Formats: sequence, structure tokens, C-alpha cells
Amino acid sequence: MNDRKPKILSITKMHEAGLGLLREAGDLRMSPGWDDATIKREIAGMEALVIRTQGEITAEVMDAAGPSLKVIGRHGVGFDHVDIPAATERGIQVVYTPGANMESVAEHAIAMMIALSKHFMPSIRALEAGDYFARTRWMGRDIRGKSLGIIGFGRIGKRLGEIAYQAFGMKVYYTDIVDMPASAIERAGGAQAVDLDTLLRTCEYISLHVPLDSSTRKLIDREALAKVRPDCILLNTCRGPVVDEAAVAEALDEKRLFGYGADVFEVEPPPVPGHPLIGRPDNIILTPHNAAQTEESLINMAQWMAEDVLRVLKGERPKYPVNDPDEVAAARQKLGVTASIATADGEDG
Ligand code: NAD
Repeated sequence: MNDRKPKILSITKMHEAGLGLLREAGDLRMSPGWDDATIKREIAGMEALVIRTQGEITAEVMDAAGPSLKVIGRHGVGFDHVDIPAATERGIQVVYTPGANMESVAEHAIAMMIALSKHFMPSIRALEAGDYFARTRWMGRDIRGKSLGIIGFGRIGKRLGEIAYQAFGMKVYYTDIVDMPASAIERAGGAQAVDLDTLLRTCEYISLHVPLDSSTRKLIDREALAKVRPDCILLNTCRGPVVDEAAVAEALDEKRLFGYGADVFEVEPPPVPGHPLIGRPDNIILTPHNAAQTEESLINMAQWMAEDVLRVLKGERPKYPVNDPDEVAAARQKLGVTASIATADGEDG
């Protein structure tokens, strides 16, 4: 990096662990909003864009930045709101923070599993309403020894499997589109690969940990829900559109599904009133996409992302790339811009 500080736009607040690094090394500006018009206005001439879950980072947004934009830093894991092929074509490196919130999301899924199994939500509401004798109204269940099906056995899925196996002695099954080498948990006999159909039909708990893409959109639809056991508790802490919420509501109404826990929604924020799942009295627990909102995760995400953004701005290889750095570099070369800030500014070679 030369003496001039690179222009960095952040469209959201984040932990000082990351913002501090960006402020020290760059000319950091905070966008007043994340709607399309504001981002397009604020991004002009920026070299780095820093995002969380808000904002749709389309090809048009990237074009509004102009050729100066070299890197988009995603604080978090899912990057379905960033047009990755468009970024690669424009020679823009996208980086993210895989694993930074793994522990938090796995624990969130466990918390939902416990809350639904022990009827926390209606019991708390009854107690607060002075209805102490509701204590015998619900029959809870223990988790120990039950079967857990994990769809998407990546970082979060594997961590959840480990906790479920080690802490609760659960029988862990998983399905994934990638045929991967056996993980530590499998080698220890704590998890077993099965096909999706078997997982849906067998498991007492099913937890979703896939990214949102064309292979996972509405993966859990009416047809999939028709296969699950009536005592099944379904958990979605990955992305709302992976599940057909109307079909989940129907399955709950018809007692073909026991419970549903979700941190994510088909549309965020979800409409209230009017959402088919929000406000139901029983067998449901919903949180406002805050599974990764723990101090530990927020520090990791902000810091890892900032470090990687600065690496790219210095012309170094990122540690956590989303798109292939070689393809990005080739595109930049084709477009007549090189990776370093100095070159893009025309200040030196
Ligand atoms: P990861 O990339 O490590 O794991 C995802 C796994 O899903 C991979 O093993 C992949 O092969 C598998 N997969 C992809 N498509 C599949 C399909 N059609 N069927 C079966 N498996 C498939 O990601 P991760 O860090 O474990 O995170 C998983 C997802 O969780 C993220 O993509 C993100 O959307 C979501 N997430 C949500 C929150 C939150 O705040 N609720 C926080 C972090 C991550």
C-alpha cells in the first residue's frame, strides 16, 4: 500500500475489532443506509466495500463503484446477496469469514432443540400470565440418544454433529452434496452419511446447514415434509428460502411435523402480522436472524474480514476468498487494471 489511504465503504456497523483495523489502514466511510440508491451513490470511487447481511450487491452496484473497486468483504458466511460471477468478471475479489460464527450457530441450533423439546416458549408465557399449574400441560422429551439429521455437513453442520454426539449421545446422520473425506466425528463413530430421503424419513431432529443456492432453494418443500416423522423437530438456522414456510405451517397444523425452530425467514424482515409461523402458541421458536450475534462471533467476523480486505488492498492473496483469486487477477489484467491500489490509481506500476 502506498501513503494514500484506500477508500473503504462500510454499509453497516460492526465490531470495533474490524472497524478499527479498517480505519487505521484506510479512509473508512460509513454509508447512511443500505438501500440500492444509497449504496450506488456512496460506493462511487471506493476501493473496498464492507457488508453484512443487508444490501443487494448486484452488478449495477459494482458498476456504480467504477473500476476502483477491488474487494468486497462479507462479514459472515452466506454470500447469496452478492453477485459473485459479476464480481469475478469485474476483477473484484470477494472475501468472507467461514468458520467465524460456527460455534455460535451450532449452539443456537442446540438451544432451539432444547427449547422445543422442553416446551420453553409456552411454559414461560403461561408462568408470566400467572398460570403456574400449566406446568403439567406439556409432555417434554429428552434429547439423549435421539436421532439428528444434519443437511449440509460443512463447518456448522459438523460442529453441531460433534456437540450433539458428545454432549447428548445423539445418533447423528448427515447428507451433503460433496463426497468428503471422513471427518473427525465420523472416524470416532459419531456420524454417518445417509441419503436425503433416508434422513428425512428417519430422524427425530433435522437441522439445515446448507448455503442458499439453486440446489437448496425450497429443499424442504411439501414433498420433503410429507416424508418426515410426525414427532420430528425441524430447525433452520441457515437461510429462510431453503424452507417453504407455508408448507411448514400446514405440516404443523396437520400434526405431520412436531415442531419448527428458525432463525431465518423466506423474506427478511418477515411480515408481522401476516406471517404463517409467527405468533403460533406452541411447538415453535423463532429468532430474528441473530444466531451469530455473540461477542465471540462478532469479533471474529469483523476482524477476519477486515484483515482479508486489507490483504487484498495490499495486493496480497486473501485467506478466505469466495471467488478464485487467480480468476480475479486474470480479469483485472484483461480489464487493464492490476491488483494494487497504486496501479489502479495510476500512481505507480
Ligand atoms: P459451509 O460452506 O462450511 O457448509 C455448507 C455445506 O452444505 C457444505 O458442506 C456443502 O457441500 C453443503 N451443501 C451445499 N449444497 C447442498 C445441498 N444441496 N444438499 C446438501 N448439502 C449441500 O458453510 P457453513 O459455515 O457451515 O454455513 C452454512 C450456512 O449457514 C451458510 O451458507 C449461511 O447461509 C448459514 N449461516 C447462517 C447464520 C445465521 O446467522 N443464522 C450464520 C452463519 C451461517
